[in-house]
Amino acid sequence: MLKLKDIIKSYKLGSTQVQALKGINLSFRKNEFVSILGPSGCGKTTLLNLIGGLDHMDSGDLIIEGVSTKNYKDSDWDRYRNEAIGFVFQSYNLIAHLSVLDNVAMSLALSGVKKKERTQKAIQVLTQVGLEDHMHKKPNQLSGGQMQRVAIARALINNPKILLADEPTGALDTETSESIMSLIQTLSHDRCVIMVTHNPEIAQTYSSRIIQLKDGQVVNDSHPYDVDVQPSKDSFKNVSMSYMTALSSSFKNLLTKKGRTLITSFAGSIGIIGIALVLALSNGMDSYVSSIESETLAGFPLQLNQNVSINNLANRPAQVFNPGKNEALTQGLVVDATTETVSHVNIFDDDAMAFLKTLNPSWINSVSYQRSLTLNVATQVNDTPTFVQTRIRGGDGPLASNQSLFFELPADQEFVLSLYDLVAGTYPTQRHEALFVIADDSTIDQSVVNALYLNLSNPFDFDELLQHSFTFIAHDALYQVEDQKVVTQSLDQNLLNHELNQTIKIVGVIRLKVDSGSSFLSVGVGTLPSFNEAWLNQAQNSEVAQLQVTNENINVLTGLPFNAFNTYESILQSIGADLTPQSILIYPKDFESKTLIKDAFDTYNGTVETTQQLIVSDIAETLSSTISSLISTITLILSAFAAISLVVSSIMIGIITYVSVIERTKEIGIMRSLGARKKDISRIFNAEAMIIGVFAGTLGILLSYLLLLGVDVLIETLLNIEGFSSLPASYSLILIALSAGLTLIAGFLPSKMAANQDPVVALRTE
Ligand code: ADP
Ligand code: MG
Repeated sequence: MLKLKDIIKSYKLGSTQVQALKGINLSFRKNEFVSILGPSGCGKTTLLNLIGGLDHMDSGDLIIEGVSTKNYKDSDWDRYRNEAIGFVFQSYNLIAHLSVLDNVAMSLALSGVKKKERTQKAIQVLTQVGLEDHMHKKPNQLSGGQMQRVAIARALINNPKILLADEPTGALDTETSESIMSLIQTLSHDRCVIMVTHNPEIAQTYSSRIIQLKDGQVVNDSHPYDVDVQPSKDSFKNVSMSYMTALSSSFKNLLTKKGRTLITSFAGSIGIIGIALVLALSNGMDSYVSSIESETLAGFPLQLNQNVSINNLANRPAQVFNPGKNEALTQGLVVDATTETVSHVNIFDDDAMAFLKTLNPSWINSVSYQRSLTLNVATQVNDTPTFVQTRIRGGDGPLASNQSLFFELPADQEFVLSLYDLVAGTYPTQRHEALFVIADDSTIDQSVVNALYLNLSNPFDFDELLQHSFTFIAHDALYQVEDQKVVTQSLDQNLLNHELNQTIKIVGVIRLKVDSGSSFLSVGVGTLPSFNEAWLNQAQNSEVAQLQVTNENINVLTGLPFNAFNTYESILQSIGADLTPQSILIYPKDFESKTLIKDAFDTYNGTVETTQQLIVSDIAETLSSTISSLISTITLILSAFAAISLVVSSIMIGIITYVSVIERTKEIGIMRSLGARKKDISRIFNAEAMIIGVFAGTLGILLSYLLLLGVDVLIETLLNIEGFSSLPASYSLILIALSAGLTLIAGFLPSKMAANQDPVVALRTE
């Protein structure tokens, strides 16, 4: 059934060539027990490896059941080893990290047999060799004889036609040897057993045929045989190991080296930790900066003023416009600065207001309208009704000059309270309730105290402000219209208590938060939008306002004609007949929203005539560009760190897989002798790399969360920013996947290297 023809095999040792086999011609019967005898180094193992398909001859032919193996491909050899051959080695060659049962079932696993069937068959052969009670032990818990029985059981599991044994009793004592030999002898009844031994006694006692080898040549054959067999049909199945088997084998291997796996995973996780930290911190940085931006922007809104002057630097000659290149100029230039500034009037007509309504509310924190309506506000001063001053000069904030002490609060209470602390009372909810805004250093300027007749001790409790109320005198109460003439009433208790008046009461005091960027409310009384709406309506519909609308030539309040300062339009606005705002302030959510808002204005301006364009002024423009360039620089630096971490992590895993390949060389040899394909070997190492990758990734993420806890505490104590870092769960999952992916890539070369190991060399390694 097996025929060797003129087999020659030599090995290269450095520059010299060692001829291990010098033309072997042998044939084997279907059932016989052949012993190959010969001194050490005569080529016995080489011959056995060639028969087993582990090694390939230089010339000659191996004919299996009448079929030449000259045209055998790698896959044919793999199947041949897996199904036709059983190997038994002197040193047992069991895989240390697998149980006896798994060792025996390995070649079935390689040919893709289901676990249940594998186990069944393995138990069967283990029973056959008398080890049914030891199948859950690890090889190192067995005696030498027992280990050799396991090896024999493993060789038998596929019921191979040929059993190859290389000095199977070489490491055993005489008594154990005898029992192993009689076991092998029994097995030779229904298969061909070829055993290498240097012990003539054993050969004599047990085998049916003895072949003497010397210096790579057959010198004696006790029972020669030579027939040409007709080719029989090749019935080998395809060998294929499932991914699950590869994973579970690798997992078991890793379990035997828990400490090492932990350390290597930790090493591999450092890269992931690096990336996770960079991500979490840059994330935190992003949200911190955007919160700062939004706070800063609160103080620096986009302004739509009625009168704007636009820098028109484009009118400048190009060389002047480009200052960096001035050195190159050899001549001076006369320029006209007046042409560089163009004034524009923003017209807040219905179209403009309709456009403002179309701005996406998610871009905007708040919009506030400044109107020039003159307020007539009175309060009781020592039981005497007295008008308060509603506007003062100076103050802080971007709109410092001539600032109104009464203003409309943004509609969004949350937005206000995100930047301001309520230091006394409650936030107003009713139309007649109002807030008092004090400066961020808890002061109120004397001028404001005087203007509003505030009754405060110094220093004052915030609660003292809550006692104040202010009465908005209705136009129809203040101005009596008789015969197209306006008579302004003097302020007395009757006027103060007029039913049309609206009295607001201070119910709360707010102050800018300690860590807020800058204020957007000036010192004074803030009223709810609902109050302002009602009040503006009342003013617009008042008799005096209606009268002024129909009187285009005379200021009805004074009876005087209009002049350059008091125009028909300005009087209409101050009296409330015309509610067109003087300026509109838009508070964007963040820089991005701000850009989007500006873009929206640009688009709008592109669709209307120049005179209808709405030109926005952005005080914070220079600040914004500085911050965004700073952010992109920082992001770039952090990304570079992340990239380095990635590379380091990959190299680390590559090295770890490489070390593992070196460590498991012997196992690779064993697996190949059992018929494992190169693919199966690389699959095992890929599986191992991936397990380490997933583990390293998970470990890295866990450690990152721990480290970030510490980092957050540090940042909080150093910079007073709470919960700085942020690492979303989705990022964690992506990072673990990344770790697994990277280890797969990094492990690719080492596992390829493992797959390409020469099985004979691998088996020789200790
Ligand atoms: P035996 O098993 O009879 O002791 P071997 O078959 O192992 O002998 O070796 C036969 C000869 O081939 C020896 O000289 C040995 O040194 C040489 N040899 C075997 N395998 C290799 C190898 N992989 N590389 C180099 N020389 C080898
Ligand atoms: Mg040998």
